[in-house]
Amino acid sequence: MSVDESNLSLMSKTMASSVPDHRVDDAGLVPYPADVRAHYRAKGYWRGLSLPAELMGAAAAHADRTALITPELRWSYRELAENAEKFAAGLLAKTGLEPGDALMFQMGNVAETVVAYLGCLLAGIRPVCTLPQHGVHEVAVLARHVGARGLIIQADFGRGQLPGNARTLLSDGAIEKLIVARGATFGPALGYDELLGHDSNPAELPYRTMDPEQIVAFQLSGGTTGLPKVAPRLHEEYAYNARAWANVLGWGPGTVVLYPLPIMHNAGVSVALQPVLLSGATLVLAPSADVGVVLDLIESTRPETIPLVPPALAIRLLDEVRSRDVDLSSVKDFVVGGQKLPIHIAERLRDEIGIAIRQKFGMAEGMFLVTPADATEDVRHHTVGTPISPGDEVRILEPGDDVEVPDGQLGELCVRGPYTIRGYYRAERHNYQTFTADGFYRTGDLARRHTIAGTHYYSIDGRIKDVINRGAEKIHADEVEELVMRHPDITDAALVAMPDPVLGERVCAYLVMAPSAEVLTVRSLGEFLLSHGLAKYKLPERVELRTALPLSNVGKVSKKELRQDIQRKLTDETTAAG
Ligand code: AMP
Repeated sequence: MSVDESNLSLMSKTMASSVPDHRVDDAGLVPYPADVRAHYRAKGYWRGLSLPAELMGAAAAHADRTALITPELRWSYRELAENAEKFAAGLLAKTGLEPGDALMFQMGNVAETVVAYLGCLLAGIRPVCTLPQHGVHEVAVLARHVGARGLIIQADFGRGQLPGNARTLLSDGAIEKLIVARGATFGPALGYDELLGHDSNPAELPYRTMDPEQIVAFQLSGGTTGLPKVAPRLHEEYAYNARAWANVLGWGPGTVVLYPLPIMHNAGVSVALQPVLLSGATLVLAPSADVGVVLDLIESTRPETIPLVPPALAIRLLDEVRSRDVDLSSVKDFVVGGQKLPIHIAERLRDEIGIAIRQKFGMAEGMFLVTPADATEDVRHHTVGTPISPGDEVRILEPGDDVEVPDGQLGELCVRGPYTIRGYYRAERHNYQTFTADGFYRTGDLARRHTIAGTHYYSIDGRIKDVINRGAEKIHADEVEELVMRHPDITDAALVAMPDPVLGERVCAYLVMAPSAEVLTVRSLGEFLLSHGLAKYKLPERVELRTALPLSNVGKVSKKELRQDIQRKLTDETTAAG
């Protein structure tokens, strides 16, 4: 893919113009400068249409093709669009929510989620892609931050904890309106069928007249302590993100895409749902990432693409005997991402089940890279490839500085482009630190640029940000530390990643207990954190006790030392176990 040369002149122009003009709108966003917006439109990246207008255009163009397959149903584009329109009309007529409001989602991989997400877009209501695993604490903090009044839940998700959590959120006043999209409704909640039963006139839905430069959906990035980091995705850039991904993977009518990860997440929306629906392809929505479920769906639907497989799922597939018997030959693009891929996993996939992987890097803030379809194995195994749009710009900067490092040298991955956000929502001060003066997002990931036959490829080789990547789910250490520190018996705490052969990383908590306090265990600490509304996947899985935490020479807790300590301990334990 050729780099868009005109970016270079644009870059220097905006550098000159935007430094003194680094304005922030009332949501704390640094908007795309006017000349950049004009450039993205001139290039055809942005189409001047709202995202739902683009989606409905595609639904009309592909009306009789299959849009969605779940274990329960198979819907054409027409059926999906009709359901979404009805839901949109019901939302506006019955909930009291209005265009511009936000709706928190706690939904799993079911058709109702797709209908509700699309219905929100058609109604001008902004979905907030919270996970069903999130606890009361997280949902409340995020709802307050984005000003969401409503919550939609799948009552029969998991162990059925969501109705109880929703009741708490309602009684605490964290949300005003509740929709139960599956399972029994209760109290003041509105049921999915009640919304769908509304007689709608699609011509009256607001999506036709929406401003495409406005926010269409909220994606989560940081934790929920201090200032939550929420990525506001705008209509035009979000639509382009999806089109660019579908284009680079060559999707079109007839392409079958299997997605087993949570659909209400930026990855689900941007590598599966939206690119499928904008390209006339078919989405097979797996209800879970259980290996048996995934293999069954591969057998029954013969997908060409699985667009995001975290290394942990790849390992589970390799360890499952049935993977040798199921015919995997339909899968042309098996795209691994979300986390650093250990090279031996790529080799095992090739040698044991005949899969040639591609790698992908992506983030809620935008910027996707993928290894090209015709790349050599060396590129596919050792890099995350090239950006998906010629409008994407990448700089590898000296951390904490704005100086580019030479090829091959480790630096911070900094990105800008037609679908990368220009600022977090209502986070003005943070935005000044996280974006360069000319609008590059400092990702906090460490990367290297490799130039091979004139093409720039990138590898991700560490991170600066204090995040633990547990099987591609991100845990922000400061969020959990703040809750840990609320425990009356703990005087100091630090969370670090400990290596794990399957999940990549797990959380280890280093604790300093108050004198004569009863020692906390993984279990008692976990119970305490769950009672404070934290999601289960963020719980520490090992506790190490110290009388004091080690400090670096600038007086901060030395997490480097703690990481080395836990690594050493794990190695010693493995050796001792033989
Ligand atoms: P999220 O916003 O949840 O999609 O997480 C984005 C973050 O996941 C990135 O900033 C990286 O830290 C990490 N990540 C995503 N893809 C990869 C990859 N292929 N290799 C290493 N880290 C990755």
